[in-house]
Amino acid sequence: MVVLAYVLVKMKPGTSKEMVGSRLIKGVQMAHSVLGRYDAVLVIKADDLKGLSKIIYDLIEKHPNVVGTETLLALFYPAKEEKPPKIERPPSVISHHCPSCHNLVEVGAPFCHFCGFRFEK
Ligand SMILES: [Zn+2]
Repeated sequence: MVVLAYVLVKMKPGTSKEMVGSRLIKGVQMAHSVLGRYDAVLVIKADDLKGLSKIIYDLIEKHPNVVGTETLLALFYPAKEEKPPKIERPPSVISHHCPSCHNLVEVGAPFCHFCGFRFEK
C-alpha cells in the first residue's frame, strides 16, 4: 500500500535551504525550508513503509547537515466517490382549477367533484 509521510527535519543552523534540493530524490514530492521548531518539511510518497524508510535514510545520508527527523505518517483514506447531485425536477401538474367553482381538481378527472362540472376533452 502506498504510504505518504510528512517528514520534519532539523538541520544545522543556516543549512535548511539544502533540503530544497532533496526534491530531486525519487519519492520526495515536496521539500520546503520552513520557520519554526523544524527547519524543513518534506512530503514523501513511497510504495510501502520499507520504501519510505529507505528514502529517509538516503536523505539523511546525502545531507550531512541533518540533525534529526520526525516522520509523520499520513493515514490513508481513499477519497470518496462524488455522486452527482440529484436534479430536482419541478413537480408535474397533478391538478387544475375547475373553471366553474375554482376548486382544485385532479387532472384527468372527467368531472368536478365539487360542483359536478363536466370537463371537455
Ligand atoms: Zn367545480
